[in-house]
Amino acid sequence: MAFSSEPIKPATRTHAIEYAVRDITLLASKVAATGKQMLYLNIGDPNKFDFVTPRPMVEAAYQAMLANKNGYSASSGIDEGVAAIERAARRKGIRNIRDIFITNGASEGIEIALTSLAEPGDNILTPSPGYPLYTAVLAKLSVENNPYYLDESNGWQPDVDDIAKKINPRTRAIVIINPNNPTGSVASRATLQRLIELAIERNLVVFADEIYDQILLGDAQHTSLAALSDDACVLTFNGLSKSYLAPGFRIGWCIVSGPAARMAPFDDAMQKIVRARLCANHPLQWAIMPALDGDQQHLVELKHKLTRRRDLTVERLNAIAGISCVAPQGAFYAFPRIEFGLDDKQFVNDLMATTGVVVVPGSGFGQKPGSQHFRVVFLPDEPTLERAYGAIADHVRTLKR
Ligand code: PLP
Repeated sequence: MAFSSEPIKPATRTHAIEYAVRDITLLASKVAATGKQMLYLNIGDPNKFDFVTPRPMVEAAYQAMLANKNGYSASSGIDEGVAAIERAARRKGIRNIRDIFITNGASEGIEIALTSLAEPGDNILTPSPGYPLYTAVLAKLSVENNPYYLDESNGWQPDVDDIAKKINPRTRAIVIINPNNPTGSVASRATLQRLIELAIERNLVVFADEIYDQILLGDAQHTSLAALSDDACVLTFNGLSKSYLAPGFRIGWCIVSGPAARMAPFDDAMQKIVRARLCANHPLQWAIMPALDGDQQHLVELKHKLTRRRDLTVERLNAIAGISCVAPQGAFYAFPRIEFGLDDKQFVNDLMATTGVVVVPGSGFGQKPGSQHFRVVFLPDEPTLERAYGAIADHVRTLKR
């Protein structure tokens, strides 16, 4: 038998895919292999730190497995889960609900929706900075990413004028991540109102990624975009990964709302993919009802701890000359700006090599040309954060000599 030595050629559609959040871990493991003590401020996974999935959710999933609910479920998900999602959506004021489907993480729902909506050559408005899954999926679909800016000088609010300017005949949707990853900003009601009016006027679908909607710091308030109008075509994405401390369950959902006649063909298209991929993890779907209908006590502790860690983060980072950090209002990320003439990747790599502190370069999320940032995850406990910010301060001092 003849053996070919030719490497297997990957598809070109993968060339443009970047996912800085995971890519940085490759580099970090190389540094860790040298024996360096690492401080990981790059992982948006609460269960890696002192946060535990609420017990009723674990018990419900376990009982479902024991009861042999281990076969496929209906493609849109179990009725009990869908009903709990609908109740939670109505509590947030979302009225014109057309459809709800449960997915393997919000990630799968986002991919299904983008695949069902946009043709190659169309474009989707995504926040910059924003979560890199959107750009990765768009690259795969040959759909253009049309980034709009969040305004750092205005607490990272979406710049609605910038969005309006960037809409063209091939624009199909606006993505809003609220609270935002990586800035932790929470969009104001006024911003959302302007954004939804623009979407209605220009016949655009809004992707409202609200996966962090319960993680609000201090006295921040969250408004669900879909609740602001019955006339807008909105997909609201949420799930168990963040507010319910179970990212490994891989359970998310999509709430389709808007005028029936306008939404029906798009929803039918999404349902084709929903059926083709069979269903989301069946036994884990049984955790949805106890999560959403439960007493929400875990959120009290979560918000309390994260508010203290946010305060520490903002205080320590702003005390370093050359770093400025807008205070996050939600989620568990901060996106400090660096101004000492270094490019963000260079800064992050040097920081990791000299101190073992792992953060993600801002360019992995998008940032205004000429500006440099990095993303910090403030899930670790305060002593760990103190050590990390101390190490960052020491490192920056050496740069300035
Ligand atoms: N959307 C945003 C803004 C996120 O930050 C994340 C994960 O970090 C996701 C979606 C993915 O969520 P899931 O774990 O439900 O797929």
